[in-house]
Order: sequence, then C-alpha cells, then structure tokens
Amino acid sequence: MIVSCALSAGLVAVTGPAAEAAPRFTPGAPGAGDPYFPDMGNGGYDVGHYDIRLAYSPSTQAIDATTTVLATATQDLSRFDLDFQGPLTISKLSVNGLDAAFTRSGAQELVITPPYGLRKGSPFVVSVSYAGVPQKIDDPALGLSGWVATKDGAVALNQPIGAATYYPVNDTPDDKATYTQTITVPAGLTVLANGEPGPTTTHDHRTTFRWSMNKPMASELSMLAIGSYDVTRGALAGGLPNITAIGKSIDGKPGQGQVFNQTTAQIVQWESSVYGPYPFDSTGGILADVGVHYALETQSRPVYDQRTSDVDGDLLAHELGHQWFGDSLTPVHWSDIWLNEGFATYSEWLYQEKYNGIPVQQTFADTYAGETDWSGVVADPGRDHIFDDLVYNRGAMTLQALRTKIGDRAFFDVLRLWPAANRYGNVSTRQFTQFVERLTHRDLGSFFRTWLYQPGKPAL
Ligand SMILES: [Zn+2]
Repeated sequence: MIVSCALSAGLVAVTGPAAEAAPRFTPGAPGAGDPYFPDMGNGGYDVGHYDIRLAYSPSTQAIDATTTVLATATQDLSRFDLDFQGPLTISKLSVNGLDAAFTRSGAQELVITPPYGLRKGSPFVVSVSYAGVPQKIDDPALGLSGWVATKDGAVALNQPIGAATYYPVNDTPDDKATYTQTITVPAGLTVLANGEPGPTTTHDHRTTFRWSMNKPMASELSMLAIGSYDVTRGALAGGLPNITAIGKSIDGKPGQGQVFNQTTAQIVQWESSVYGPYPFDSTGGILADVGVHYALETQSRPVYDQRTSDVDGDLLAHELGHQWFGDSLTPVHWSDIWLNEGFATYSEWLYQEKYNGIPVQQTFADTYAGETDWSGVVADPGRDHIFDDLVYNRGAMTLQALRTKIGDRAFFDVLRLWPAANRYGNVSTRQFTQFVERLTHRDLGSFFRTWLYQPGKPAL
C-alpha cells in the first residue's frame, strides 16, 4: 500500500504538469558530514522505512535478502548512495519498480542512478536483492560490529558502523526510520530483533519471524539475533510487553530466564519514574554468546554479550537507561556520544544508590579520585576514543557536578524534561547546555567549558 503510493507520487513529481522551471538534478553527497566517519550516511534523501527480508543458513553462513528502502528526496537527485559493504553480491536493484544502474565504490558506497531524476520532496522506493556471506567489521580502535556469525546462528550489532554489513542503509544517526525485519531460518531456531513480534510461520522446515520497530530508530541501534534461545515473555505493571531471551548454550542458574525478565521490568519501571515515560512499545533484552565483549543498547531490546564481565543490575541499568539517552535521543555527531554514555553511566550510579545503598556522590568522589587520564575532551574525544572511559566516567561526573551546581530539583527536572523535549529526535552538546541554561535561568558557560570542552582535571 505505501509502496504503490510512493511509486505513483514519485512518477507524478517528475513527469506531471507541475514541473515548472526545469529542475537541476545533482548527485546526493556520499557522506552525511560526520567528521569522525566521513563516509557514513549519505545526502540528498531521508529514509522513512526499511523493510528487510532475509533468509539465513547457519550451515553456510550465507544470507539471501531483499531490502526495500522507502525514502523522500531532499534535493533534485540525479544519483544517490546507500551504504553497503563487504562481499555481498547484488542480483537486482530497482528504484520505483524500474531497474536502476548501480556501482560499488570505495569501502561502503553503493552508488545508484535511477532511470530518471527524483524531484525534491518526492517519495521513492529502492529495492535491493543480494546474497552472500556477510563479514563483520573488526575495527582496531572500536572492536567488532556488524553481522557476527555465532555457533548456532548470528547476531548483528551495529554501533557505530555495522548495519551496512547486511543491508543497504543510510548509516547515519540523524536519519532515523521505522523498520520491519522478516527473517527466515531453519526450523528450530529463534529470531529476535528490535520492537514487536508479528506472526511466525513454518513451511518446508524453515520458520519465518517478523519484528517491527514502529518508532524512529537510528541504524546503529538496529539488531538481529538468530540462534537457539529460551524466550521469556512478560509485561510491566502498565502492560508494556517485555520480551527477554537467553542463549541456550549459556550455562545459567535455574530460573535465570525469569530473573533476567523481571530485573529488566523492574529497572525499566524505575527508570521511567526518573526519566519520564519509556519511549518504545516494548522492552526486553537478549543475553547471547556473541564474543564481542560488550553489551549494546539496541533499541527497545539491548543485547548483552555473555562475555561481558558481569550481566548484573548495573549493566542492565546502563543499557536500559540508553533507551532514553542514545536511542530516543540520538546525537547527530559521534563526537557528542557522551550524551549517551555519560547519562547511561549515571544510570548505573543512580542504580547503585537505589538498590545497593552507595550514594551517587560517593561514586563521583571515587571516580574523580581514581581517574588518572584527564587529557581528553569529553565533547570531542576523537574517532578512536568514542568508547573510552573519558566519555563514560567524565560524562557521568559532569552530570553529578551539574547536579551539585544547580541543585537536585533542577537537575532531576533536566533528567526528565530533556528526553521529553527531544523524544525520537537528534541532539547535540550545544543543545543540551542551552537547554539547561534556559531551564535554570543561569549562565553555565564557564562550568560546561571546564567539564565538556577542556582537557585537564576540573577543580571542585
Ligand atoms: Zn553505553
């Protein structure tokens, strides 16, 4: 339905009588302008929805997929790029149902020339069919991401780069879109993804799962987990569905599935009381044996690698706190990632106070005393340092120092009103500091300069 609408609208915009002055069609930019990742994302259009249909064979580790991208041109487009990387082979590519010319360029550019120019403002549909064995990314500074084959399936984790290892995408955090993922696997395996489950069907020893994320999602927060999982379905007191899963290969205590599900519910409930209404239509989490050695705040359903140090309440508080800070509110530029990690680390500190009796100010003092490297700049850590302690610890210290400065009442207003004011949007450090200044009617320029924009240990 949406596809045919978009198709006719696209054609009308180009061929209809409304074409006044002859448009000048130009190529969309090959990057979205992030200084840390200049090739990521693209210009000239805005994606509204991804429809990913993918079949996976664990025995060959190959996928066979068609991804349909619904987008709107933001300039008169002669040509545009999607990000798509690795050895996958494209068998068919169309724009608005007509075969389109394409080339692969550099590490991740899929350059598409539609059969006719796309007028600014017109919706269009790109459909790409492809197959092959996706390859994960192993970045020397940032670790593993993208499609990771596992013993019994695969897990896809896409921060900061990785989505393009298995679907064509405008891989920039400021082009959020809704998603449908329809994934077919050998019968007996389970598929989990972001959002809400649809019907599951089995034919010819193959089972198809469908998951939909109906709230805007950045591609770096999209996720898939395929394998043997024990799934627990619950709900929060208010009815929010809570779907958790634990890989069957993971040794656990009896009842671990229930504990994981209930702890997730408890933390989402508590964080909602501090940060305001939970932003998505379901929650949950996946404990998987991926081997990436991190947990990730994938939207609505974080993934916890079994090989992270401890999957305990702190870590859940961190990844679930990200649902407000990072997922619902997403920095435009990766330099501002402290807006995710500072708040998520602060969620751990609040959790420690609430559930383990360790005051936040105590954690702040210990962190301040224990920190040895004060050389970085929180609001511009550098491409290879976006996951450094600087971003996490000094980010959280900045928030506690702000709390001391503006008082509890104003500070907890910030924690609630900042996500409310920017729900499902993109944010920057500058927007945050201006927001706090407006809310408190104070000039905090010198405070924020010291904590966020200058290296060196701030005096208390
Ligand atoms: Zn985090």
